[in-house]
Amino acid sequence: MKPVIFTLLLIAAFGMFARTVSRLVRFLLRGRPEAPPARMDRWPERLASVAIYFLGQKKVAEPPSYTAARRGITSRHHQWIFWGFLLITIGTVELLVAGVAPSFSLAFIGETPYRALKLLIDWMSLIVLLMIGYAFFRRLVLKPRLIPMSLDAGLILGMIAGLMVTHFAYHAFHFASAGTQDIAGPLRWMDDRWFISYQLAEALGGGGAGYHTVADVAWWTHVLILLAFLNYIPFSKHIHLLGALPNILFRNLDARIVGTKRNLEDENDYGVGKLEQLTWKQMLDGYACTECARCSNYCPAFNTDKPLSPMHLIHDIKHEMMERGALELKLAHLEGERKEEVQKRLLGSPPEDGGAEGPASGMEPFVGGRIKDETLWACTTCGACQEVCPVFIEHPRAIVDMRTHLVLSESRMPAELSRTFTNLERNSNPWGIGADQRMAWAQGPDGGLEVPTVEENPGAEYLLFVGCAGAFDDRIKKAMKALVQVLKAAKVSFAVLGEQEQCSGDPARRGGNEYLFQMQAQANVDAMNEHKVRKVVASCPHCFHTIKNEYPAFGGKYEVIHHSQLLEHLITEKRLTLTEPLAANFTYHDSCYLGRWNSEYEAPRRVLEAVPGSTGLIELGRKREHGFCCGGGGGRMWMEEKIGTRVNRNRTDEILATGAKIAAVACPYCAIMITDGVKDAGAEERIEVLDLAEVVARALPDGHGKAKRPESA
Ligand code: SF4
Ligand code: SF4
Repeated sequence: MKPVIFTLLLIAAFGMFARTVSRLVRFLLRGRPEAPPARMDRWPERLASVAIYFLGQKKVAEPPSYTAARRGITSRHHQWIFWGFLLITIGTVELLVAGVAPSFSLAFIGETPYRALKLLIDWMSLIVLLMIGYAFFRRLVLKPRLIPMSLDAGLILGMIAGLMVTHFAYHAFHFASAGTQDIAGPLRWMDDRWFISYQLAEALGGGGAGYHTVADVAWWTHVLILLAFLNYIPFSKHIHLLGALPNILFRNLDARIVGTKRNLEDENDYGVGKLEQLTWKQMLDGYACTECARCSNYCPAFNTDKPLSPMHLIHDIKHEMMERGALELKLAHLEGERKEEVQKRLLGSPPEDGGAEGPASGMEPFVGGRIKDETLWACTTCGACQEVCPVFIEHPRAIVDMRTHLVLSESRMPAELSRTFTNLERNSNPWGIGADQRMAWAQGPDGGLEVPTVEENPGAEYLLFVGCAGAFDDRIKKAMKALVQVLKAAKVSFAVLGEQEQCSGDPARRGGNEYLFQMQAQANVDAMNEHKVRKVVASCPHCFHTIKNEYPAFGGKYEVIHHSQLLEHLITEKRLTLTEPLAANFTYHDSCYLGRWNSEYEAPRRVLEAVPGSTGLIELGRKREHGFCCGGGGGRMWMEEKIGTRVNRNRTDEILATGAKIAAVACPYCAIMITDGVKDAGAEERIEVLDLAEVVARALPDGHGKAKRPESA
């Protein structure tokens, strides 16, 4: 009788689970195709990712926040729970099959391996139980930020603990009822004092039929918890058990992108405003989130009290799928009044007074409702969230796609950003200074720097992409002049596009104005191709990223390097000799678009190390892949920051705390934002913010650096 009841139960539970999973897959299939990046190529690399990040749980073990990292706290308990669960699943499969066919066991793998497997499962069950105890302690006592003790978390942890407890209860009471020396069936493989279950049975002593009943109850409880857990997973935070593996498998292996090339002929392709405008991968991100809160803990917007928590943004995507997606699927099978009712919930109904248009009831819109405009505008696209995400969720891209909808479909954006777009449209620079002034930075009362244009030096090895900050911002012009002096000192053959250069398009694309971005990108690509440009050097990491990773989609394929990489190369090749000591200690602020988006952390540091007289580089606490944004990326440079504390001030305070005399940067946005932060802190006397090129120019020998030394920063 027991096998029959069990089999029916199993069929019902797995049937329900399969139905739920098929619904989840149907939601995904409503998503748009992904192109680019490719998701189904380079399978060996993809499988290696699964091995490292899913099975190995590499990122999960890392500290969940800056604070935790400082205190040496990791999340290894999750790793052990996961590994334990994988191993215990083998025992679970055996248990389920044996429930249907009682004579089944995995003993066919051989006596020694089978006994070893049983021993591992027994010990892993104890480890998992201890780790669950720690997880309860962590949520209830340590209370990490954004990881509360919710009903959902309590249920999940409770069920896992229940599975472990019933594992021991079943085995121990079964042994004890039969007597540990007289056991038959699969349990006889555990007849060994090394087994915890055996030791427990010894402690229990002989108990006869009563113990047998307890063992039976434990077995059924174990099975019921297991099947309930299976069916609860898709509705709980543990949906990531289903979503994490495919999300890691289909992760982006190409250059990271912050925006999607849109077909502007198609109004339905104006960004993401509705659920079905997300790609299937963006939807899958929703299933994969483990709710570890790493993304929010490392987010500069969240850490300065802006209304943006990347973790909650991903939850909003998931909840939209679960609620609106479920209703839309249901709609296909409904008719009559019931159908109208569901339609009303989805779209809302016109207000009864016949007033303003738009839904008066029903679900709020996805973008602009569930996900608020101010949430989207708070992002600096720094990429800290996706960098730390253990399951490779791509938050910034989703945010920019939603901004694109706001700008292109709704014409809704902060007024300052709208003005910036107007400046870009009229003069192709965010400052709005006349486009005919783009070469003014290189001219001066003494005849200027003699910066050759592509017409004047058609065979130049490098195109120096000056960028709008280098051409129009007074502070950054000094850094650009320093770079030119350094290039000349090293006899680098270079030229600029001059008035043919337009804004690279970074502020437009990150700000959601894909239309403007495409125009600017195409104009620059056409100009560069016309002049047969092969190598590009940019001192702005935003221009560098855009030209390197986003121009190829517009026919612009060049070898693109950042000026820190060129400076490092020139120093290594001894084309630049730095002799003048700079008796000051440095700190270095990582640029998000150079570091996280393009993985360049070493070149700027090597350049600084080559400067004579430095008393050493003082590293910031939040550095490299965990560097804290200056607050200027993602178009934020052009928007007011009215909520919370300023991102640049947060970063500047950390820089000032090092006691360094020079804060070296490798990005014009960082230079402007950190300089502003220093002024705001009244610390201009304590520290100087210098671009790498300015540092190098100061260290050039007489005749190179001194004679042509840039104006003091
Ligand atoms: S990209 Fe940066 S600012 Fe935007 S959500 Fe991620 S961490 Fe926050
Ligand atoms: S999005 Fe990634 S980092 Fe953020 S909570 Fe989810 S799994 Fe953790």
